[in-house]
Amino acid sequence: MLAHGSGGEESAHLISELFASRFDNPILRQNEDAACLPGVKSPAFCTDSFTVTPLFFNGGDIGKLSICGTANDLAMMGAQPLYLSCSFVIEEGTKISILERIVDSMAEQLQKIGAQIVTGDTKVLPKGAVDGVIINTSGIGEIRHPNISCQNLRPDDVVMVSGSVGDHGAEIFSRREGINLSGNLCSDCQLLWPMVEKILETGASVSAMRDATRGGLSAVLHEWVRASNVEIEVEESAIPLKSPVKGVCELLGFEPYHLANEGMFVLAVAKKDSQNVLELLQNAPGGEHARAIGRVKTGNQRVVLTSSWGTKRLMEYPSGELLPRIC
Ligand code: MG
Repeated sequence: MLAHGSGGEESAHLISELFASRFDNPILRQNEDAACLPGVKSPAFCTDSFTVTPLFFNGGDIGKLSICGTANDLAMMGAQPLYLSCSFVIEEGTKISILERIVDSMAEQLQKIGAQIVTGDTKVLPKGAVDGVIINTSGIGEIRHPNISCQNLRPDDVVMVSGSVGDHGAEIFSRREGINLSGNLCSDCQLLWPMVEKILETGASVSAMRDATRGGLSAVLHEWVRASNVEIEVEESAIPLKSPVKGVCELLGFEPYHLANEGMFVLAVAKKDSQNVLELLQNAPGGEHARAIGRVKTGNQRVVLTSSWGTKRLMEYPSGELLPRIC
């Protein structure tokens, strides 16, 4: 009901029954206007809003997405996710049972990495003003491994991906369009900090990490060649691609490396450490499909795909509106 966002008794009830009970922790329990945090050495801070149709999909839901998305952006800077905010914008008429599933899913992800929701907000908008639920989360993490940056790529760095490409985008799109190729599509939505922590603990020389969300692998590589003023050469046949994802792409004319992922990241690692990092990824849960796909070269801010025939072509930067409301 609209009254659940009015700040009165119904709001208080919703907050205590739905959120406080599932996100409970000492900081949240203070119930103050702002969360007072213990000192965080070298903090990283990020925010993201999540809007996806459908709210529940194979491999995840908007709640899981809202925790993983923000925690993963922190992890990509070598920061351990610690404190998150969450803001819900809810359409009037949304069932409480749907919200409960979403918040349960958020709590489950938070618990996996020991992160906490320490502040939040709820608004209810009239029916039709918003499609279901929008969640915003912001996060603060502590940087454990400085100097990871999109500006740090160096010639000879090995470029690798922690998993197969396009899983999330293919799942959302096929679900929305009612395409069911084989029923094997599944979003890769997952927390990346456990994998990242293992890599950083080895002291490996990691130049850059970025999760390949909207815009997919292609957007990450294009952002990197521009930020570091280098060229990246990618061996097309090395890009891991699951066959149902390939099927969706062939059917609809998508490039798989333009499709979003929500639990896969791209790394640039010094050559001397690349084999170790790759093996570590492949042995970590969620990293089984990790592959080295290319290398960094001096060059002209472009991403070059090489085929097994020895031919070369430019990887296109994603443009236009591929998939609205996907993450
Ligand atoms: Mg990111």
